[in-house]
Amino acid sequence: MATRRLSSLLSSSYVVAASSRSFGRYSSWGRGINRFSTAVALEEPITPPVQINYTKLLINGQFVDSASGKTFPTLDPRTGDVIAHIAEGDAEDINRAVSAARKAFDEGPWPKMTAYERSRIMLRFADLIEKHSDEIAALETWDNGKPYEQAAKAEIPLLIRLFRYYAGWADKIHGLTVPADGPYHVQTLHEPFGVAGQIIPWNFPLLMYAWKVGPALACGNTVVLKTAEQTPLSALYVSKLFHEAGLPPGVLNVISGFGPTAGAALASHMDVDKLAFTGSTETGKIVLGMAARSNLKPVTLELGGKSPFIVCEDADIDKAVELAHFALFFNQGQCCCAGSRTLVHERVYDEFIEKSKARALKRVVGDPFKKGVEQGPQIDSEQFEKILKYIKIGIGSGATLESGGERFGSKGYYIQPTVFSNVQDDMVIAKEEIFGPVQSILKFKDLGEVIQRANATRYGLAAGVFTQNIDTANTLARALKVGTVWINCFDIFDAAIPFGGYKMSGHGREKGIYSLSNYLQVKAVVTPLKNPAWL
Ligand code: ADP
Repeated sequence: MATRRLSSLLSSSYVVAASSRSFGRYSSWGRGINRFSTAVALEEPITPPVQINYTKLLINGQFVDSASGKTFPTLDPRTGDVIAHIAEGDAEDINRAVSAARKAFDEGPWPKMTAYERSRIMLRFADLIEKHSDEIAALETWDNGKPYEQAAKAEIPLLIRLFRYYAGWADKIHGLTVPADGPYHVQTLHEPFGVAGQIIPWNFPLLMYAWKVGPALACGNTVVLKTAEQTPLSALYVSKLFHEAGLPPGVLNVISGFGPTAGAALASHMDVDKLAFTGSTETGKIVLGMAARSNLKPVTLELGGKSPFIVCEDADIDKAVELAHFALFFNQGQCCCAGSRTLVHERVYDEFIEKSKARALKRVVGDPFKKGVEQGPQIDSEQFEKILKYIKIGIGSGATLESGGERFGSKGYYIQPTVFSNVQDDMVIAKEEIFGPVQSILKFKDLGEVIQRANATRYGLAAGVFTQNIDTANTLARALKVGTVWINCFDIFDAAIPFGGYKMSGHGREKGIYSLSNYLQVKAVVTPLKNPAWL
């Protein structure tokens, strides 16, 4: 299968050409609401084409109420209205889920099944996702606010690809025979850890689910997954499908709830053998500490970023503008690897600014269920307020506001596509992760300088490089201290491509062959060889 290019799938020409199903009144286009926006008017929100069937905790193959009986609302980012009340997991629910996962690992069928049988269940699951992909995409859009076209055309196909990829690994995991210096037969066994605790964020609920659950189960572990409190719906829905595909009870348990309660209970649980976390660097430090203070469980961390996107003087400017725009604004700017420092060579800087501004003004903001919309609302009021605060800080620190800068509409959490030029390295907007539709453009003079400035951050998740010069590309690819360098492309997320951070962007790699080692112990088995002289 060809590497999936989110950028090509999501470019505006694709959106215009797409012939996906219509939802209600997607064809009624509105006008921009102020001098900066070209946007679809916000009318009454479109009714999502899906029902909410699963709101309880999934423990031992059953949907159950929380031990406390408490619930919390999950909100529609388009309006702030309640979508559904969700069972709120806490420490006692984590205990119950961990016991179920423990039993399914120690006594249950999962690690004892043949790897081929596990693989077949995962393949059946991928088929069921494919069958129900419209409803799944709709749930993802409703709970998260991302454009339906993005969820349906790019994310759900990638979700399917991820589970097929990991199903393919399940029966190809094995150890080695090792040549020791002595009369010994030495082999390694690659064994699952046991119970994997996994904590995921809200920006790509199902892709994060697949990055975590896929390798853990392929390697024979059982799982307790804590979803983000903002986006509990889609994981519950697909996990039900996983059980329909034949997943035994207790193998995958899904707890909705909050970080300091359910998340903390999972990270510090003595019977969880391995922890994987994706989220902010601040919370990553907290969970790493909890894992260390409890049973020293190993931790995989995928954390924040402030990724440079470097536009060299030889770049095709129109293409560079489009890609830099995509690198930042994709998913409402809510990507840990967003190209949030656009560094542009001084010779092409002025033209780049003009064209970036024009592109941002053309960005279509509106109800994410409406066809042609490129940008929906931010996830919640907290992120919305935080982004507007960063915009104020940017203006206050002397950066030039080229476009946007305000909320979009009067309800929900929409923000205008915002572009700042004349951004300096020491400004807060050039240093901190904004996690929103705010592009910061900086000027550079030469390669040595841009390498030093691109690396002058505590983060090291990803970088984009735009150049036609192979020597420049090779130099930057090696000099940048980041886990991924995208050259003349961005956000390419195939299942086989590893992803993770240098420095304070994390520990370990997810996806690809490297992700398997997060979920496998290596056992050395040594046997003396009798009669070595004969061998
Ligand atoms: P964000 O600020 O983007 O929401 P977080 O890092 O706070 O990112 O959240 C990512 C995930 O971590 C979510 O599932 C959240 O509930 C969880 N989380 C937040 N705080 C804690 C904590 N103290 N312990 C464990 N998990 C947490």
